[in-house]
Amino acid sequence: MTSPATTAARTTYRNFVGGEWVASESPTSTPNLNPADTRDVLGHLPLSTADEARRAVDAAKAAFPSWRDTPAPVRGSILFRAQAILDKEKEELARLLSREEGKTVKEALGEIQRSINILEYIAAEGRRIGGHTVPSELPSNFCYTVRQPVGVVACITPWNFPVAIPVWKIAPALVSGNTVVFKPASLTPATATAVVSIFERAGVPKGVLNMVLGSGGTVGNALLDHDAVHAVSFTGSNEVGAEIYARGARRMIRVQAEMGGKNPVVVLADADLDLAVEATAQGAFGSTGQRCTATSRVIVEEGIADRFVERLVARAKKVRVGSGLEASTDMGPAVDKNQLQTDLEYVQVGTGERATLACGGRQITEGAFAHGHFVEPTVFDHVKMSMRIAQEEIFGPVIAVVRVADFDEAMTAANDVRFGLSSSIFTTDATTVFRFVDRIEAGIVHINSGTPGGEAQLPFGGMKGTGVGPREQGSTAIEFFTEIKTVYVDYTGQGRKSALY
Ligand code: NAP
Repeated sequence: MTSPATTAARTTYRNFVGGEWVASESPTSTPNLNPADTRDVLGHLPLSTADEARRAVDAAKAAFPSWRDTPAPVRGSILFRAQAILDKEKEELARLLSREEGKTVKEALGEIQRSINILEYIAAEGRRIGGHTVPSELPSNFCYTVRQPVGVVACITPWNFPVAIPVWKIAPALVSGNTVVFKPASLTPATATAVVSIFERAGVPKGVLNMVLGSGGTVGNALLDHDAVHAVSFTGSNEVGAEIYARGARRMIRVQAEMGGKNPVVVLADADLDLAVEATAQGAFGSTGQRCTATSRVIVEEGIADRFVERLVARAKKVRVGSGLEASTDMGPAVDKNQLQTDLEYVQVGTGERATLACGGRQITEGAFAHGHFVEPTVFDHVKMSMRIAQEEIFGPVIAVVRVADFDEAMTAANDVRFGLSSSIFTTDATTVFRFVDRIEAGIVHINSGTPGGEAQLPFGGMKGTGVGPREQGSTAIEFFTEIKTVYVDYTGQGRKSALY
């Protein structure tokens, strides 16, 4: 690791309201720190007031009629321009993302490529959004549906994919004709600012996209309580998601919430072991375990468990930890002090529960690591499903190995959590593959590949405690952001006597 430059940046990020970058009126701000070296200050996050959030909603409300009436293909063409700008600026943005959030530049580039793909797919929705024509039970009656925008939408996003998640919410919201107030995570304001700037330069009209920086409680609640906000698309933790869902329900507005995961990989005795080990390691330690689709449990048939654990531990020890900005780094730091603390606490919880700490578990503080939030890749063996480390989302590079007797026991263990986001199985038996797909309680299923990953043209989201509302991305992306209107056109010119419903 080289010693990064120490910059006392003076930048205080601005809100984007009504097409203008405006300084927050709040006197309070917090520093935005590089998690690999907290002496590196990227800028300052203003803790905007509830009034500022309300003004952003007012701007979005004022911009709505004209954006709603803009033809959808024209809205889509603006998103195609955003895609082109993002593509052109991806290297620079990847370095910013890495410096702000900690993931490696390679991982950041992967996230940005996903965002480019999403923009490409969603921009084309401008030429696809449509309804159905359906036969009528009556003569001379034409029945069809149209999709229309919901109105002003709030998009509230987490820090772990600070480009992709805003893009996968904002793009479908905009192409459907909604106007947006975006509240990014407090830990990633620089990346959020860059994303909004791309939409601005792509030609999104004034007021159509707004951004308010600040704390979730103040800004988030002000958005949820504003009469003009008709829908909230949220990604983040279950605790906050539950609050938002309840608050939205009080006003009977739409809420889409995508939350945590405890994603299992099942490894059966007939699996290609090296393949399973590699996928498990990448799923567990990639992005420092800070992915909603991270592999956090590996459920292994007892007969191969010793060999599997031995290879997984050897692989974990090879992970090169360091600043994400260094080309040689495989795994960056935890995003902040709190997440680091959470990771270390769960190591204590796991050892307290008498799981076997097979490797890792320590904070790394030597030399240049002293100023960052670094933790070792960690493997716990002999984990029981009753343990907290098998049940709770840690969101760090900590994996629990659960040993089972056979496939049926593996399925029981895999489904024995409140979450249901991603899942994976390693086996060479086709029948078992289909039984797994049938029985696994997860929104995403991978066969012979790891739990993370996905493609822009396919739906993304979870079952059970992970997700409420329609899936994001792919063909389902616009469902949340559109109302369906059903139209009956009677062209008898005479009126009808029997209207049954
Ligand atoms: P978080 O603490 O729940 O925060 C998410 C967003 O909600 C942030 O913008 C946060 O603002 C805001 N917020 C906090 N309190 C709020 C409130 N009372 N009202 C309205 N908004 C509020 O989650 P996180 O730590 O950023 O992200 C990690 C979590 O996201 C993990 O659980 C992960 O699994 C989940 N995640 C899920 C998916 C998925 O698709 N299923 C994808 C990625 C991440 P502040 O930053 O200001 O607190």
